[in-house]
Amino acid sequence: MKVFKTKKELKMYLSEFRSENATFGFVPTMGALHRGHLSLLHASSKNNDLTIASIFVNPTQFNKREDLDNYPRTLKHDLMLLEKNLCDVVFIPSTDEIYTNGVSSQHFDFDGLENEMEGKYREGHFNGVGTIVKKLFEIVLPTNAYFGEKDFQQLQIIRKLVKKSTLKVNVISCATHRETNGLAMSSRNSRLTSEERDAASIIFQILCAVKNKIGKIPLKAIDQWVSEQFEKHPLFKLEYFTIANEETLKKISEISPQKNYRAFIAVYAREVRLIDTISLNS
Ligand code: AMP
Repeated sequence: MKVFKTKKELKMYLSEFRSENATFGFVPTMGALHRGHLSLLHASSKNNDLTIASIFVNPTQFNKREDLDNYPRTLKHDLMLLEKNLCDVVFIPSTDEIYTNGVSSQHFDFDGLENEMEGKYREGHFNGVGTIVKKLFEIVLPTNAYFGEKDFQQLQIIRKLVKKSTLKVNVISCATHRETNGLAMSSRNSRLTSEERDAASIIFQILCAVKNKIGKIPLKAIDQWVSEQFEKHPLFKLEYFTIANEETLKKISEISPQKNYRAFIAVYAREVRLIDTISLNS
C-alpha cells in the first residue's frame, strides 16, 4: 500500500495507472476507521483496478470548534486497517496541503438539499463537505466514489454536486453497517461510555418501530411518539426526527405510493451527536 501526503506525488503516481485505463475506486474518510468504512473499501476493491482512500479531518465541515478538536484521530491504526483491507493507495494530506489559500468553504447551491435537517442544525456544514469532496475528486479523478447511506443527506448532496459539475464520477451508495445492538457504526461512537453505547440501540429500535407504524397511524402521531420516547430518556436528547422524501429531503405531510421515503434522526448523548436513517420503503 502506497501512502501519499502531497497532491503532486499522488497525482504523479495515479497518472501511470490512468494512462493504462485503470479504473479508480475512491473512499474519502475522516479516519478513526471502523467496519462501516471497511465495507466501502471492499465494495471499491471488488469493482475497480485501484482502490484509493483518503483520511482528512476536514475543518470546514465542522460548525463547532470543540467537535473538530475532539474528533477521534487514530492514524496508525487506520493505516494498518487499510493495508489489511485491500486498499492500494492512501492520501493523508495536511490542512495546508488542501487549503492552500486559507481554510474556507466554497458556497454551493444544492437546490435546497443543503437547507434540510443537518443543514438546519450545522450551519455551513454542506458547503464544507462540498468543498472537500470537490477538491478530492479533482485530485484523484475517480471512476467510482463510495459513500455510506448512514449519511444519506450527504450522499444526495454529493450526487447533486457531481450532477451540477463537469466531474465524471459514479457515486455509489453502501448500506449502513451496524453494531450487533443496531447502533450505526460511527467514528463518534468511541466517545460514548459503554452505558451510552448499549443504550444507543434505542435509536435504531425507534427507526424500525417507525417503519412498522408508517401507513398505520398518521405521520403526526409518529412524530409525537418519537418525541415521547426521548422526553423520558435519561441519556439521550432528540435534536430532530423527520420523515422526508428521499429525493428532495423535504419533510412530508402525507405518503404517496410512487415516492421513496426515509426517516432521519439526530440525537445527542451529552455532547456527542449521533445520526441515523432508515428507508421506509421495503
Ligand atoms: P466519515 O469518516 O465519517 O466522514 O465517513 C466516511 C464515509 O464512510 C462516508 O461515506 C460515510 O457515510 C461512511 N460511513 C460512515 N459510517 C458508516 C457505516 N456505519 N456504514 C457504512 N458507511 C459508513
